[in-house]
Amino acid sequence: MIQEERLISLFKNLCLINAPALEERESVAWTKQYLLKMGLEVVEDNASEIIGGNANNLIATLKGTVPSAPRIFLSAHFDTVEPTEGLEIEERDGVFYSKSDTILGADDKGGMAPIIEAVHAFIDSGEPHGDIVLLLSCAEEIGLKGAAALKIEDLDLDFGYVLDTGPPVGSYVTRTGTHDKIDIEIIGKPAHAGKDPEKGINAIQVAARAISQMKLGRIDAETTANLGVIQGGSATNVVCASVLIRAEARSTNEQVLDEQVDHMVKLFAEAASEYGAQVKIRHDRHYRAYNVSEDSMVVQIAQRASRALGLEPALRTTLGGSDANIYNAKGIPSIVVATGMDKIHTHDEYISRADMIKNAELCVEIIRETAKLSRPQKS
Ligand SMILES: [Zn+2]
Repeated sequence: MIQEERLISLFKNLCLINAPALEERESVAWTKQYLLKMGLEVVEDNASEIIGGNANNLIATLKGTVPSAPRIFLSAHFDTVEPTEGLEIEERDGVFYSKSDTILGADDKGGMAPIIEAVHAFIDSGEPHGDIVLLLSCAEEIGLKGAAALKIEDLDLDFGYVLDTGPPVGSYVTRTGTHDKIDIEIIGKPAHAGKDPEKGINAIQVAARAISQMKLGRIDAETTANLGVIQGGSATNVVCASVLIRAEARSTNEQVLDEQVDHMVKLFAEAASEYGAQVKIRHDRHYRAYNVSEDSMVVQIAQRASRALGLEPALRTTLGGSDANIYNAKGIPSIVVATGMDKIHTHDEYISRADMIKNAELCVEIIRETAKLSRPQKS
């Protein structure tokens, strides 16, 4: 059913259009034409107005021939981490790499090409299927912004699949963590370091006091914490007046996460008060955990699809986030489907021809399995 060369040429075309977050317009326009030519009904939402980019999310629908079947979505994101400008693709032994100094962009074009090809295969074959909606999002890499702007709750979807994690193909992410971001600004007091050091309050010293006592790294099997950025100071002869620290913490258990964040915030506050400095904290819940039950229709269908292809349908837990976190939070059961993309966000990123074909075949099986069932009752 899958046309290999059509799939690979679609993948390459998608990768070759430069599409950093908030600048996906060309990629969106090209894909829109491709989907319209396939005969899909394609609409753009108004995400650009909400997130400030130059492109919108695409919603493309193939009307079903089995009206009783669940109405599902298949999803991937347009944007890639930079740099991808000037990409040249090289294929070695059936594996695609970037030949130039850029990233390949298999994250997430290696998910996007197979879902489009799977839908194309159903159009060609005339095989019965339910409604299939492609959700192609923008600005995923900078904080799931396109998905957050997408009004998925208005699309009357039952559940769906986000192709956006690493191998092995056939496995799924059904459980993730909650991810918090914390910005800490410590405000001390400047003074001449040689003349009046006792008149200053050194923000670096305050930060050091707090950080030296902080639990960081792996907190438990499913909780992590990190200080990723520290900025501050102006010159060696000035007592450092302010420091900005950017931190994060993640956990599958929100209570444990809250305790870890409290621990970090408390140490900064205590150190600040000890030195007479001030501290400003900005705490954001970046995305919320989900845990989709193995008994749910979305997981059952996925597992049957993997088995139909002889693949191991393992269910995975990760502390990484994806558009599925947003879709689940908006009430649409969603799981992440593994793709072949590996070493993502690096120059060594790669994906194989065989894994992309397998992913497209897996999506075909998901659509087939879905067509055998009836729409679940909305709770
Ligand atoms: Zn991705």
